[in-house]
Amino acid sequence: MAETMLDRRLERIASDWKAKSDKGEMPNALYDAIAEGTEKVIDKKIIRNLARVSRIVNDNGEIRQFADFKKDWRYSHSTYGKTDTCCICGQSPIVENCVLVDDSRKIEIVIGNNCVKRYLQIVDPKTGQTLSDNDRDEFLKNETKDAKDEYTRQQWMFEHPFIMRHLSEYEGFMQSTAELKRIHSAVSKRMVSHGFPGPKLRRQWSMFIATAEASKAKWETNKAEQRHQMRVRAEQAQSKKEAFIAKLKHNRLAWHNKSEEWLRNTSDVRVNAWEKKARLKVASRLKNGQSLSESLERFVKEMLIRTRLDDGDVICDNDDFMLLRRMMDANKLNGWEEAAARSMMGRIAAGSKITPSQQEIIDRLRTRDRS
Ligand SMILES: [Zn+2]
Repeated sequence: MAETMLDRRLERIASDWKAKSDKGEMPNALYDAIAEGTEKVIDKKIIRNLARVSRIVNDNGEIRQFADFKKDWRYSHSTYGKTDTCCICGQSPIVENCVLVDDSRKIEIVIGNNCVKRYLQIVDPKTGQTLSDNDRDEFLKNETKDAKDEYTRQQWMFEHPFIMRHLSEYEGFMQSTAELKRIHSAVSKRMVSHGFPGPKLRRQWSMFIATAEASKAKWETNKAEQRHQMRVRAEQAQSKKEAFIAKLKHNRLAWHNKSEEWLRNTSDVRVNAWEKKARLKVASRLKNGQSLSESLERFVKEMLIRTRLDDGDVICDNDDFMLLRRMMDANKLNGWEEAAARSMMGRIAAGSKITPSQQEIIDRLRTRDRS
């Protein structure tokens, strides 16, 4: 009975000491005494400082040693950039912070990376095994990298809260040059893979966004100007085309009239089979705006002279021409001879050579004329 009462009393005392220990309200001398204890290699200040935030009294009211209470601290995670003071060595600021948790009391302390490496052990969260020194350093390195990435991501979001809006707003403009196109694509990809761009890309984006609005406005003005120029050019091309068509129509009419005029003028000329074909050929070429060959030009000239033979205004002092003219006027030629004479007179007056067989006809007519 008495033992139980004593037990209960001791329990109460132990509990009271534990509560004081939790609040760090134990006498300084006690912390000094713990520090003076076992682990000689470790700085006394370190032990003292950790003791102040640790539970140094156990359930039985016994004072715990450093090697024991330091195991209460479980490495939880690292943070980066939130500058803090190391809870056990007092160094400040520390950038690479490690958060340790005492799970039994649900309290956290922040200590520097180096103090964790120097004084504490880390339990692998996956296996529950205490990590070797090398594995612990590697583990902390990765944790710090993750924390740094997270810090960078938050920093990036803080500095560029409108990144998504900007990526969307400048998407069209950023397709205008290869470099901007690359930046837009790279930032978009990094937003998905990391949540923030790499250092070089961050610089490029910051430089871009600083003048983006003005550059975009300029680009839009240029684009509008280009569209206007294209419209003007298209309109010019259209009116040029219309003018060409109008001219073509005008020419066609002129060619048609010229052809008709030719046929009209030569309709009364008696022609042989070859001449008949040549006359239609000239008409066809004139109608299509085509040029005439040298022989057709000559034919035209001869034909036009023949249309005027009866008017008497074709002057030619060639002997053969004058012979044919006289015999025709004196009605000394039969129908066939007159047709041939007209053809030859056209040739002679146009300056063309007559054929040997035509020359024979003329010679025969001259003989007849003399007799
Ligand atoms: Zn420290």
